[in-house]
Amino acid sequence: MSDMKIIVQKYGGSSVATTERIKAVADRIKKYVENDYRVVVVVSAMGKTTDGLIKLSSEITDNPDKRELDMLLSTGEQVTIALLAMTLHTIGIDAISYTGSQVRVMTDGNFSNARIQSISTDRIMASLRQNKVVIVAGFQGIDEEENITTLGRGGSDTSAVALAAAIGTRDCEIYTDVDGVYTADPRVIENPKKLKEISYDEMLELARLGAKVLHSRSVEFAKKYNIRLIVRSSFNYEEGTVVMPMEEMMEKFIISGITAKSDEAKVTLRNVADRPGVAAMLFGKMGEQKISVNMIVQSTGADGKASISFTVLKSDVKKTIDICESLKNELGGTSVDFKENIAIVSAIGVGMTSSYGVAGRVFRVLAEHGINIEMISTSEIGISCVIDPKYVELASKVLHAEFLEK
Ligand code: ADP
Ligand code: ASP
Ligand code: MG
Repeated sequence: MSDMKIIVQKYGGSSVATTERIKAVADRIKKYVENDYRVVVVVSAMGKTTDGLIKLSSEITDNPDKRELDMLLSTGEQVTIALLAMTLHTIGIDAISYTGSQVRVMTDGNFSNARIQSISTDRIMASLRQNKVVIVAGFQGIDEEENITTLGRGGSDTSAVALAAAIGTRDCEIYTDVDGVYTADPRVIENPKKLKEISYDEMLELARLGAKVLHSRSVEFAKKYNIRLIVRSSFNYEEGTVVMPMEEMMEKFIISGITAKSDEAKVTLRNVADRPGVAAMLFGKMGEQKISVNMIVQSTGADGKASISFTVLKSDVKKTIDICESLKNELGGTSVDFKENIAIVSAIGVGMTSSYGVAGRVFRVLAEHGINIEMISTSEIGISCVIDPKYVELASKVLHAEFLEK
């Protein structure tokens, strides 16, 4: 058994958008089988199927039951697994498809953003031993009551990496419509550079801050289980980008990527008491409601009062306002307001830790183009600025030019 060369490959929506594309994927898998690999394949729904399913539900209601929405969204992947298995059969490759529940992808019960807790590999390993290609539906699992759950948009990447970890292989290839991770989204910046390699930590920041080429939780899993993730195109045979431990990297850049995201809103709780426990209570409540907070800025206290601004996903704004309103009096706050019209642009790179003046350069470049910064947050390897969304493309372009085109 231990002599089996096992590889996990994940094919995203555009890679399986049509039956023609599925045939191309099957041909690629066949090459691996012919080279003695045992292949576990994770697939997404075809093309924009998931968007289509969301639209269908929105024609019925604005506020669908979360369990039923996951039940609906999980169907997209089930179509692809069956079609890919049939396609492999037609070219003489033995293959079997499994849904998430059939291979016991166990998750918590947080519908539409569930987290994987365990995967049973018995069935997968038994099929691999029978020389079958195993095809698993991405993006889906079941909770302990056997309700179908989904892992959040883009979650098939996480299914693939979690499977690689469960099976105990280090090799996981993510096939998509770009041939690697670039210094910026190729759809926004004209000539970004392809990165040969990138560290887990940088990739995690890129993914968390808007580079949707990988689902951020897939990178967390990869780091934790030391999986070598390779991002490649299913449309060509280029080498791709390897996501790996920092220590194994040959090259390190001050900035390795620029990202932007427009799916967050800023919430401000004004004039709360400037005393211990205020932030703890507010963000504790947010955590209990499973709302994740990205940037947090607290103004310096004056007259015993301070204001707290933070960003959350736009989809969580309603819940967040309710929490703030419910705590406002207790915390001594005077008002709660929010702004949905914001974007966050970020510069990310491990080299930042050992260089001076990076933040100053980021702010100068934005200022030179008349872009006002509404909020700033920094981490060891990243700087993020909240700006007006009308400047988001310009900000990405000028930051890319400053750090990656000189
Ligand atoms: P899939 O359906 O295969 O999962 P996605 O659409 O989720 O594909 O992710 C691939 C897309 O990610 C690319 O088409 C590209 O526009 C976008 N993207 C954003 N930032 C980056 C980046 N830094 N490098 C590469 N692609 C990026
Ligand atoms: N089909 C799901 C989505 O569109 C999951 C994925 O593609 O990774 O978000
Ligand atoms: Mg994706």
